[in-house]
Amino acid sequence: MNVSVVLFTSDLRLHDHPALRAALDGSRQVVPLFVRDRAVDDAGFAAPNRLAFLADCLRDLDAGLRERGGRLVLRSGDVVEQVCKVAAETDADEVHLAADVSGYAQRREERLRRALEAQGVRLHVHDTVTTAVAPGAVTPASSDHFAVFTPYFRHWSQQALRDTLGAPRAVPVPDGVGSEEIPSRGSLGVSPLLAAGGETEGRRRLTSWLRSGIADYEGGRDDLGGDATSRLSPHLHFGTLSAVELVHRARHADGPGAEAFVRQLAWRDFHRQVLAARPAAATDDYRTKRDRWRSERTARDEVAAWREGRTGYPVIDAGMRQLRDEGWMHNRCRLLTASFLVKTLYIDWRVGARHFLDLLVDGDVANNQLNWQWMAGTGTDTRPNRVLNPVAQGRRHDPDGAYVRRWVPELADVAGQSVHEPWKLQGLDRAALDYPEPIVDLADGLARFRQARERD
Ligand code: FAD
Repeated sequence: MNVSVVLFTSDLRLHDHPALRAALDGSRQVVPLFVRDRAVDDAGFAAPNRLAFLADCLRDLDAGLRERGGRLVLRSGDVVEQVCKVAAETDADEVHLAADVSGYAQRREERLRRALEAQGVRLHVHDTVTTAVAPGAVTPASSDHFAVFTPYFRHWSQQALRDTLGAPRAVPVPDGVGSEEIPSRGSLGVSPLLAAGGETEGRRRLTSWLRSGIADYEGGRDDLGGDATSRLSPHLHFGTLSAVELVHRARHADGPGAEAFVRQLAWRDFHRQVLAARPAAATDDYRTKRDRWRSERTARDEVAAWREGRTGYPVIDAGMRQLRDEGWMHNRCRLLTASFLVKTLYIDWRVGARHFLDLLVDGDVANNQLNWQWMAGTGTDTRPNRVLNPVAQGRRHDPDGAYVRRWVPELADVAGQSVHEPWKLQGLDRAALDYPEPIVDLADGLARFRQARERD
């Protein structure tokens, strides 16, 4: 066989890449292709933070390919049209692609298969490129997917993972294939503290995490001020790191930290198998509670206060400002800010999910929408009516107030745990603060939510 095209999507790496390896094994030359998908822009999914991180990833991938005698081919437009065009231009016999789970990705794969077949080109779709365990690889007896995490995790843990593949030594690319220029990271609308992207950076972060972070993960993962999680999520989202490799290497690390970390990686696969089986869960309740949510139109001021981090609840405001400035938020605070919006303010989870997707560098349809639904109680949480109290949670997970003081400088001088309840300060201390009063009474919010759910 002569030429194969490898279509890179959310697998922007050279290490542990089964689709690239299969293409290299089966053909003389390979065209590593990335298509900047017009539909992603049209759907409003091309957030500046992710585009900036993507630019880093593409440049790094191109550099890695050049070290191996190749280069990245970049095109823009409709993915199916562009892949067919490149396959025709290079006389390719095969196209290799990683399986993906969203409804859009599934439809795109089907369109691509038909279009390539009409051209006499075979499409190979590889699973376990973007997940450790492929969606559908483990199922309960009575359904096509697991709806509860614990039994899923039991089965997931027993799956034998494929071996990790090294990066190829050489990637021979045919001459003369036209490519757009690989973009540089832009700055317009990009969070000022956005992390750097790319496989080189991802591998550096992974090595340092395994050496000095993972051991304390179990005890430290909920400590907001300690910031002791891996921050590998954008690398998993863009596939600059392989989920299979991460699980293998974390298991090798041993200890309770490693076990807890692997469990979180299984959550990622869990959500992906839910979305693969129920693509509509990206927009519709997975398990409806017949909520009559308040919309953005009816709660405009509260939504604005939540987005801008001026709800008057310090830990909520800290989280929302971290999101704005870093394009990333600590998991514990994602739970708190989501609970606050959907349960305390009783606003539609889609309003919050949209805002997160507009900013998160790891913004991912499966993880974002299904975590929002988990918190809204319309997803896979077995305790759908749980409500997280931002004051109690702040005291527990940010006991010395370090997280709040970092992100809400107006409260930097408030001593001790008062930082979580500034409205209780007296006299001059209170008057001197340039910080809003709470926009809602927590007890009122709780009562409204309980009443709404009792109708169910
Ligand atoms: P670590 O704690 O180091 O965990 C390691 C990896 O495990 C993460 O990188 C992630 O891939 C996976 N993981 C951890 N927690 C979860 C979880 N609850 N669900 C699924 N996978 C998990 N994660 C995203 O990747 N993209 C999103 O768009 C996203 N949106 C979220 C929205 C809400 C409302 C909530 C509550 C959670 C969301 N998460 C999302 C899950 C989680 O918050 C992030 O994956 C995590 O904070 C990323 O930081 P980390 O890499 O340091 O995580």
